Amino acid sequence: MAFTIPTDIENRPVAVIGAGTLGRRIALMFATRGGLVRIYDTSHQADEAALSYVEQHVAEVAAKIEGGEPGRVTVTHDLAEALRDAWLVVEAIPERLDLKKEIFGELDRAARPDTILASNSSSYATSEFIDRVEHPERVLNMHFYMPPQQNAIDLMSDGHTDPAILDLLMRELPRYGIFPFVAHQESTGFIFNRVWAAIKREALEVVAEGVSTPEDVDEMWKINMGLGTGPFRMMDQVGLDVVLDIENHYAQERPHLPAGPRELLKKYVDAGRLGVKSGRGFYSYDTPA
Ligand code: NAD
Repeated sequence: MAFTIPTDIENRPVAVIGAGTLGRRIALMFATRGGLVRIYDTSHQADEAALSYVEQHVAEVAAKIEGGEPGRVTVTHDLAEALRDAWLVVEAIPERLDLKKEIFGELDRAARPDTILASNSSSYATSEFIDRVEHPERVLNMHFYMPPQQNAIDLMSDGHTDPAILDLLMRELPRYGIFPFVAHQESTGFIFNRVWAAIKREALEVVAEGVSTPEDVDEMWKINMGLGTGPFRMMDQVGLDVVLDIENHYAQERPHLPAGPRELLKKYVDAGRLGVKSGRGFYSYDTPA
């Protein structure tokens, strides 16, 4: 079925579904052009934390974007209210296929017909969770890394996505300081996430084998790559439970992948050491997010 591309997007809100590590950062990026962003989460605690995160950072991030100005962010526990008149919805709930299937069915039923429905899933193609969606032509992957620091993103069709949506997003997203790249065919991990997965996996394997420590790998990475943060600290920021979910998914598709990285991650997750969000992961943090 044909999709009607949204118009008047300057004056329409963006809705972000899920207010966790990534949802709040995605909301922040869309709040940099003076418009309205609505955040919907089932947890009151996450909503409030997300709101305060955005309020704390939006002026500083908007100031770095040409034509940027701090926008308004609201939180709601009413999905219909979150979606009202939105031109774009970005889903960022946990990386579980059953949850993604359910929420995309709901979004498709409740959003107006010209709303674009995007998923921030790290490792599932949207084609895997549109079985309850009647309008797959408005659905796609829009995968962020760690905004506002890492702002290149992957876009990927679900096989039915109206090409005009990709054109619109390629044109509009840079105005929010977001730089999209299109995967030209379906790919688990899109473009850059596959490259990053290989780096994480080998870094974990080096530690799982007892060859080195997270601290030493990170220090070598910083010196040799000229970057401020090494892979272990970056995994702590992402959340080790999320890193494990993603690696499990790659391993399902490619059974030859080494088990050491998953076993090491599982030890940390089972011990409640999830990274920054729990106050301890490979490193310790004074203020858990
Ligand atoms: P998270 O666990 O930090 O946050 C998920 C949020 O979703 C929580 O606040 C939870 O209360 C909420 N939630 C759960 N079910 C919900 C529902 N039905 N409706 C509304 N809210 C609901 O997770 P995250 O790390 O932000 O990851 C979210 C998504 O983004 C996942 O698909 C993940 O793969 C992807 N992603 C994560 C990262 C990362 O660095 N953490 C990077 C890129 C992509």
